[in-house]
Amino acid sequence: MSDLTPAPRTGGAEVARRAETGAPPAKRTSWLPAPAQGFGVTFSTMFKKVTTEEYPDVPKQTKPRYHGRHVLNRHPDGLEKCVGCELCAWACPADAIYVEGGDNTEDARFSPGERYGRVYQINYLRCIFCGLCIEACPTRSLTMSNDFELADDNRQDLIFTKEQLMAPLLPGMEAPPHPMRLGSDERDYYLRDPEPGSAAEPVVGERP
Ligand code: SF4
Ligand code: SF4
Repeated sequence: MSDLTPAPRTGGAEVARRAETGAPPAKRTSWLPAPAQGFGVTFSTMFKKVTTEEYPDVPKQTKPRYHGRHVLNRHPDGLEKCVGCELCAWACPADAIYVEGGDNTEDARFSPGERYGRVYQINYLRCIFCGLCIEACPTRSLTMSNDFELADDNRQDLIFTKEQLMAPLLPGMEAPPHPMRLGSDERDYYLRDPEPGSAAEPVVGERP
């Protein structure tokens, strides 16, 4: 049957059509009674491959580049990569990110350079996981993990704070504030050769 051929109408609609137009009855596609046709669909489906997901008993494995929950990454000495520039917030089409920058001082240093992200929030009621924010981040501070378990039963708990988004401290890292350990200025952090498997690489796995 071509796509332009109207599907045969049944029941009262078909009777009305024939009464209006005097057309002959629509051609039947099967000589089986309708209940037998219906159960035939059920019966044939019994032998098809089951696609049921056993989640949450069997966790879903995402693709490696799946866009899940965000992570704010750290340098290998534990200082934060975020410099509070707000570019991620400006890039976000859903207005889901809120950033307030703060000034580092010699007594309280959270990131290399002048500024750090003093307040950082992502509203997961707004986020559409497009990834534009991580493209905009100049320091690779902001990346996305594969974690997709973000459901909750209230609005407040879906606004994630900086403390929730920060990557965990790995071995060899020290919780900020502390002085710069990898060089005398911020360029030393960005111009050095990355070490394979270094803790400076973004966290892409599921957080504990
Ligand atoms: S993933 Fe897209 S919507 Fe979500 S915070 Fe980033 S830019 Fe905004
Ligand atoms: S996460 Fe990146 S883009 Fe956003 S404020 Fe921090 S450094 Fe800037």
